Amino acid sequence: MPQKKYDKILVVNSGSSSLKFMLFSMATETMMAKGLVERIGTPQANIVYQRDGEPKIAQGISAENHGKALAMACKMLADPEIGVVKSLRDVNAIGHRVVHGAEEFSDSVAITEDVKSSIKECSDLAPLHNPANLDGIVACETVFPNVPNVAVFDTAFHQSMPKHAFMYAIPQKYYEEYGIRKYGFHGTSHKFVAQAAADFLKRPLEDLKLITCHLGNGSSIAAINGGKVLDTTMGMTPLPGLIMGTRCGDIDPAIIFFLARKGMSIDEIDNVLNKQSGLTGINGIGSGDMRDTVNAAAQGKASAENALNMFGHRVALYIGGYYTLLGGADAIIFTGGIGENSIPGRKVIISRLAAIGCELDEAKNKAQPSTVSVISTDKSRTPAIIIPTNEELMIARETFRLLASNLKRKGE
Ligand code: ADP
Repeated sequence: MPQKKYDKILVVNSGSSSLKFMLFSMATETMMAKGLVERIGTPQANIVYQRDGEPKIAQGISAENHGKALAMACKMLADPEIGVVKSLRDVNAIGHRVVHGAEEFSDSVAITEDVKSSIKECSDLAPLHNPANLDGIVACETVFPNVPNVAVFDTAFHQSMPKHAFMYAIPQKYYEEYGIRKYGFHGTSHKFVAQAAADFLKRPLEDLKLITCHLGNGSSIAAINGGKVLDTTMGMTPLPGLIMGTRCGDIDPAIIFFLARKGMSIDEIDNVLNKQSGLTGINGIGSGDMRDTVNAAAQGKASAENALNMFGHRVALYIGGYYTLLGGADAIIFTGGIGENSIPGRKVIISRLAAIGCELDEAKNKAQPSTVSVISTDKSRTPAIIIPTNEELMIARETFRLLASNLKRKGE
């Protein structure tokens, strides 16, 4: 019985100095408790822990590495007063967010020594993320020696992209030698909202053409045809595509050579394009936050208003392009911090979509629903729908699905 065997699933998202965790009961898909350890490896390490529906508990801890951070998290999960399980033995499986799976992983996978080596090999493509994700995996293997671990990759869903969409028009040898191609990110979120859209529309995902917009600090769009990705806006790295909180999105690549010839080092240019660009670079207030941008624009700051329009223009450009490539769309989905919450952020996009039959219903857009809801007018040919994403639940679902299917294969 996989339902019983894998009921309590811990989801771990391990960063270079942080570890995010959430414990789910899969029988009802409810989140029992969650937490975040930050500043791992420093004397200021701290944990914020919260049981579902209860106040947060924050405290300084000693966590010189990810193993110690996880041990502290586990202590809280199994604490007689503030915990949610009697013992750590109640945790049946662990799902890990892993950023880059390159071409090696087109699906989630049970973690073995070989899988860990492959994740390490992919570090070349995600040097900041994959080693940190591995730290989290190793910590779990130590704290939970007999519990299965599953890796769920941000890139996996996008592996369904066709070659004509994922290749760059540079000499083919760079693809063959270095794996330079489009991989795409936020795959777990795009997959979650696509499935939720199918449920909402009461149609099988296999029959739908969807444009999913994950708009947060990092943003990407995916064109999804019958559950397979046709194209997406991020690339070999999360830098291209949309205008983000601090990332530039699409620019003329020759700007990089131009700046290098002006005397900037590659590291300096990397820092400018990844950390000082996007909304931060253009809104005139130096903040990458959409709320700050909207407030500044409302107070008449012209650069902030321009930043909003640049953001909307770029998103609409991709939606229009994907609409054409898909041959129409059954829905445009908005998710992520901006997609779910920013009334003006959605307006600057949808006000540009009249040509594809999507018209904003101002009242519905302002209603700020917390569940799935349509924000386009009834007469819109192409509905715009807000769908709150839940990447952690998706990782838990993937972990359950994979382990349950392995059980079935083994005939258990
Ligand atoms: P990340 O990519 O880091 O996960 P989020 O998905 O949390 O980021 O998105 C952060 C963005 O969402 C910020 O630009 C923020 O301004 C915006 N945002 C978050 N909550 C709200 C809100 N309640 N109203 C308007 N904008 C919001």
